Amino acid sequence: MHKKVAEIRELMIKHHEWFRESIPLIASENITSPAVDEACSCDFSHRYAEGWSGQRVYAGCSFIDEIEDICMDLAKEYYQCIHADVRPISGVVANLVMYNAFTSDNNGKMCCMSIVRGGHISHGPRYAKSGREIFGTAGTTRGINVEYLAFNNDEMNLDIDASAKIIRDFKPELVLFGGSLFLFPHPVKELSDVAKEIGANVGYDAAHVAGLIGSGYFQDPLREGADVMTMSTHKTLPGPQHGALVSNREDLIDKLRSCAFPALLSNHHLHNVAGLAIALAEMLEYGKEYHKNVIENAKALGQALHDQGLNVLMEHKGFTESHQIVVDITEFQKSIGLGGDIERLLEKANIILNRNGIPSDLTAGRHYQNPGGLRIGTSEITRLGMKKGDMVDIAEFFRKLMIEKKDPKIIKKEVVEFKKEFQEIKYCFESSNKAYEFMRFY
Ligand SMILES: *Cc1c(COP(=O)(O)O)cnc(C)c1O
Repeated sequence: MHKKVAEIRELMIKHHEWFRESIPLIASENITSPAVDEACSCDFSHRYAEGWSGQRVYAGCSFIDEIEDICMDLAKEYYQCIHADVRPISGVVANLVMYNAFTSDNNGKMCCMSIVRGGHISHGPRYAKSGREIFGTAGTTRGINVEYLAFNNDEMNLDIDASAKIIRDFKPELVLFGGSLFLFPHPVKELSDVAKEIGANVGYDAAHVAGLIGSGYFQDPLREGADVMTMSTHKTLPGPQHGALVSNREDLIDKLRSCAFPALLSNHHLHNVAGLAIALAEMLEYGKEYHKNVIENAKALGQALHDQGLNVLMEHKGFTESHQIVVDITEFQKSIGLGGDIERLLEKANIILNRNGIPSDLTAGRHYQNPGGLRIGTSEITRLGMKKGDMVDIAEFFRKLMIEKKDPKIIKKEVVEFKKEFQEIKYCFESSNKAYEFMRFY
């Protein structure tokens, strides 16, 4: 055996052990159930099946087709819609399908959330700023001209009147809602009416909130005016890393299909389609309860961190309506540092989260690598069975590390002890496998 094989396996085991002993708070992550893991490791990962189910370009696809049909049916049931394409291999690829369908090949026009206010790099234009080129996906791959919608920092949401004016003046082909820093439902209803007035299509990027929406929380974009909703399938929706696109526009189905294949995809990671089918079945069964607890935990963690003295944004609105909260950490600039520094401090104590920009970064000129905020998500800790009371324990770890400046090595021991109770994946079909168990195939 090549000596690197043993080393690679050793590193994987170490990673699993680290996560088993950590508190995972990254808002874009989640953990898949043993049943999803099993599906994702099936022989489908060796196969090719280009095209739509039943019209493949390869032989050997009959069972693959049946599972993909089931996956699409489950997605249509979960999202109450008539079209589901489960082939996009990620959220960004699902967005590209949408851009293909709705924007011109040259000089297309789109309005969306600004990246620094919580939009996603895949929505961004390509432009040069103070000598540095920014490569947003929409601008780089489709040459889309992007105009940002107006944002109200105090409400952490789109400003309806100012955004309506921007849409009327800029006359985009696509108005896109959704983002990565996403605390409150976007005013899709109000601004879709404006978009329709000028003949624009409406998209909703549900990468972060796809699980919340499917389970009936947060908002219901397809019934509020969105023509298409794209998503990642691994954030609040606890499936494998993949993407999907859903719609209720019967007249667009053929176009949306061909904008995925042959326009964009070759093979579409069939094992993950199988895994997604299982994850959708799990969420149809357990999603209502799971996502209710995800949101309750986010609100409870916001309150608990606030009670410990941290500056959690949006107290006047109950901190959040989603799985995320945002903490302004600028008061620690002198004592610890900014977002990146605090991310590293917490990581030393086995608390894993990510730094994030906040609205005041722009005026204060803070660099995106070391911004003024932290983003915290509760999808994964809820999946491990944590409830509202546990949020108080987590908030205490933050106080000890950030306010009392205790040694992270000592707090890490407490975190490891705390995490021992949460080693099983809940809201899924029964299994004897534990969370973060390294599968041993040989
Ligand atoms: C995470 C995210 C994406 C990207 O999804 P991938 O599945 O990683 O490609 C797209 N849009 C938004 C708003 C996101 O937060």
